Amino acid sequence: MSELMQNYIDEAEKALLHTYNRYQIVLDKGDGVYLYDLDGKKYLDFVSGIAVFALGYNYKDYNDALKAQIDKLLHTSNYYYNVPAIEAAKKIKEVSGMDRVFFTNSGAEAVEGAIKAARKYAYLKDGRTDHEIIAMNHSFHGRTFGALSVTGNPHYREAFEPMIGNIKFADLNDFDSVLANVTDKTCAIIMETVQGEGGIFPATKEFLTKVRELCDEKDILLILDEIQCGMGRTGYMYAWQKYGIKPDIMTTAKALGCGVPVGAFLLNEKVGAHSLVAGDHGTTYGGNPFACAAINKVLDLFKEDNIIENVKNVAPYLEQRLDELKERYDFIIDRRGAGLMQGLVFNRPVADVINMALSKGLILINAGSEIIRFVPPLVITKENVDDMIAILDSCLGTI
Ligand SMILES: *Cc1c(COP(=O)(O)O)cnc(C)c1O
Repeated sequence: MSELMQNYIDEAEKALLHTYNRYQIVLDKGDGVYLYDLDGKKYLDFVSGIAVFALGYNYKDYNDALKAQIDKLLHTSNYYYNVPAIEAAKKIKEVSGMDRVFFTNSGAEAVEGAIKAARKYAYLKDGRTDHEIIAMNHSFHGRTFGALSVTGNPHYREAFEPMIGNIKFADLNDFDSVLANVTDKTCAIIMETVQGEGGIFPATKEFLTKVRELCDEKDILLILDEIQCGMGRTGYMYAWQKYGIKPDIMTTAKALGCGVPVGAFLLNEKVGAHSLVAGDHGTTYGGNPFACAAINKVLDLFKEDNIIENVKNVAPYLEQRLDELKERYDFIIDRRGAGLMQGLVFNRPVADVINMALSKGLILINAGSEIIRFVPPLVITKENVDDMIAILDSCLGTI
C-alpha cells in the first residue's frame, strides 16, 4: 500500500467514529463494474455499495442528468411542488403498482414512515394506542429507533433499549409462528421479501400467500421492505411481484437512487386514504428536486437499458457457477437467494476469504459471519461472473 493511502486510513481512524471495521482500502473512483483505489488498483465489484449501484459506476447519461439538475434547482421545500418529484412519483407508482408515495433520504427513514402510517391507520380505526407489529427474526430494517425496533437481531438492539413498544417476532417462512403472535391489537406484519443482512433468505410463496390472507381477513397491514431486494435485483422490479400478492405498504431505497441518498415508502389506496395527513409526517430533504432527478433517471434507464432482462439472463448463470463451487468445496454448505442477490453459506467464518479476494482485486461482502453475499451491479455480464468465480475459486483453494 502506498504511503498516501496508509496516511488517509490513519487519518480516518482518528477522525471518523469507529462504527465500521473497514477494509484497508480507500476507494477513489468507479467505472462500470470496476472500482479503483487511491493507488490505482482495479477491483471487480460484486457489492455495488451494498445493492446500490445497479447501473454501474460513472454512467454518463445518469451523471449528465444529475449535473443538469444541479444547474437548475438543487433543493426546495416540500411546501412547494417540484417537477422532478411529480415525475418520480408517477414513475414509481407505475413500476410498483402502489398508489401513494412519500420520498425519504434513506432506507431507515422509509421504514420509520411505513411504521407510522400503519400505526395511524390502526389508530383511526379504533382510537387505541396499544397496537402491535409482528416482525421477523433475522430481519434488518435499519438503525433508527423505529427501524431497529423491528430488526430481528437482539445484538443490534440490546444496548439501546427500550425500543418502541409492542413489537413481536416470528420466523420467516413459519406461518404458525406468525399466527401465534397475532392478537386483536396486531396492526401490521413487516418483513423483507428476501432477507438481506440476516443471511439471504427469500420468503416462500406459500408463506407470503398465507400471511397475505391472514392480513386480509383481519385488516392487518402487510409491510414489505424492498430496500435491498427491490429495484430489479431478483428479476422483478419489486421482489413481491413474483408471488402474486401485493403489500399494503412497501419501502424502497438503495438502488432507487443509484448513489444519491434517497428512499421512499409507498401505500396502497386503502392506507393512503386513511393514515398520514398534513402535519403527521415530514422531511426537509426528502423528495427534493435533485434526489428526484436521480430517481427519474434511474427509472428511465432501467427501462431503456433493459436492466431487469439482464438480471433474468445473468442470474441463472451466477447460480450455476456458485453451485459448482458448492459441489467442489465441502466447507460450502448451501447457496440460496433470488436473482442477483445470492448467498454462499460456509460452515466457517468467511472474513479471511473476503480479505484474500480483496487483495486479488475482487470486492465481496458477508451477510452474517459465515455467508458471502453477492449483490453486484445489475449490469454485470456472464464474463464478469466468470472473472469473479476465477478469483474466488483461487482463494478457496488455499483455505
Ligand atoms: C439497507 C437496508 C435498510 C436501511 O437502509 P439505510 O438506507 O441504510 O437506512 C433497511 N432495510 C433493508 C432490507 C436494508 O437492506
